[in-house]
Amino acid sequence: MKIKSAEFVMSNSDVTKCPKEKLIEYAFIGRSNVGKSSLINMLMQKKSLAKTSGRPGKTQLINHFLINKNWFLVDLPGYGYARVSKSSKRIFQKFITQYFSKRQQLALAFVLIDCRHKPQKVDLEFMQWMGENQVPFSIIFTKQDKMKPNALIKNIEDYKLKMLESWEEMPNYFITSSSNGTGRDKVLNYMSEINSLMSKQD
Ligand code: GDP
Repeated sequence: MKIKSAEFVMSNSDVTKCPKEKLIEYAFIGRSNVGKSSLINMLMQKKSLAKTSGRPGKTQLINHFLINKNWFLVDLPGYGYARVSKSSKRIFQKFITQYFSKRQQLALAFVLIDCRHKPQKVDLEFMQWMGENQVPFSIIFTKQDKMKPNALIKNIEDYKLKMLESWEEMPNYFITSSSNGTGRDKVLNYMSEINSLMSKQD
């Protein structure tokens, strides 16, 4: 897929106020610092479409970008646990769970994982939540350029083994680098395939 245009549309914290157009969308989510803004900018080949670290005010909002005047890219805030008062139960921030529960236009979410780290509980639990709530997602392992090839292969293999403790199969995944562009074509082509599949169904 060629990116011909990428425009910021709106930011808000309420899923009911997200754009009403019947265009499909792809959400990008992960812990803060995972490389989400850099990845979005790399995919769209726009230097500061999504601002990198330290964007004041926008980090806790749902940010919609209109791509090729045809679909939305959604930059979601970094997730974490929200504590339910007087209980030890931990859930994800409400507007994130509401977004995923209510947003019918969502075609797929990309859950970003820093390829250098061992599987983290919060990421595993978030993907578990996505599975339980039937939200389709793929994984993007970010910052590929920061690992030696063999170490990267081992980390991904370890991640797969961890996932297979609770998943029947490893979700679809991509490996990317915002520094050298690795994975760009694969991610964009994947979205393009889904776009054409969904428009045929309409
Ligand atoms: P966000 O908080 O998830 O939006 O993460 P950012 O995109 O702001 O990235 C966090 C830090 O990681 C920044 O210092 C980026 O320059 C760096 N970073 C992000 N992606 C990559 C990558 O693919 N390669 C390298 N080497 N650094 C990256």
